[in-house]
Amino acid sequence: MSRIAYVNGQYRPMRDAVVNIEDRGYQFSDGIYEVCEIRGGRIVDMPRHLARLQRSLSELRIAMPMPLASLEVVIHEVVRRNRVNYGIVYLQISRGVARRDHAFPSPAVRPSVVVTARSLNLEKNEATASHGIKVITTAENRWPRVDIKSISLLPNVLAKQQAREQGAYEAWFVDRDGFVTEGASSNAWIITKDGIVVTRSADAGILPGITRTVLTEVLAALQIRLEVRPFTPQEAYEAAEAFVTACSQIVMPVVAIDGKPVGGGQPGPIALKLRQHFHQFSAFS
Ligand code: PMP
Repeated sequence: MSRIAYVNGQYRPMRDAVVNIEDRGYQFSDGIYEVCEIRGGRIVDMPRHLARLQRSLSELRIAMPMPLASLEVVIHEVVRRNRVNYGIVYLQISRGVARRDHAFPSPAVRPSVVVTARSLNLEKNEATASHGIKVITTAENRWPRVDIKSISLLPNVLAKQQAREQGAYEAWFVDRDGFVTEGASSNAWIITKDGIVVTRSADAGILPGITRTVLTEVLAALQIRLEVRPFTPQEAYEAAEAFVTACSQIVMPVVAIDGKPVGGGQPGPIALKLRQHFHQFSAFS
């Protein structure tokens, strides 16, 4: 079955799904995106993702290209046409097509919208979680507005590649003060030997992950203590557990950081428990 993408008003087979070469997303990374998990053919936490999408657009002064309700219809339709039961849906909006000039086109052009969906392998992801992943640390070199989910991801791409070349799955950025900010495509967490879950404030140098937000609710419900503060790689090496969160990974245990085993090199019990309970706190649509 050919995969189908939505591009600017049309559903097209992937090979015919194209954008103009003067699209500002292509030329300037002038756009934003969202990724949602799909479970049982339904979208997980879509209202929260769409709220973040609207915020990203408004921070970049890109107009919302269609009413939110229409965007929801498109997202569901792309998932349906691709028959995705478990996987992800990707949504990208760029400022649109205009002759190349750094400043915004004037008058404004219509923003470009692309939506794709693809299946992921649930068994494989569960197997990965049961073994845990390795992370490395690398110097933070991104712009200060990482709270905007922009498609400008070059430092993230390079950090992720660095991780792969060192036999790891994820890279954690470390800021100038020596604190971990977040992963190249995930939020970073540790659990202290006293069982306190620690993650950095969403106001400071990270993308406010939707999984991160939902997990704070899971922690409260399970009466697990949360401390919102930055932590250093050293504290992470010595932690009882570590994990990352992202919508496609939920809670993914970390078993080594910079080649040092964390929590005896096994996924920790609290991380696995959080993973197990996570979707009880999700909204499905
Ligand atoms: N930080 C970064 C840099 C990311 O790319 C992602 C994944 N989109 C996250 C955090 C996690 O966000 P979410 O939980 O919304 O997937």
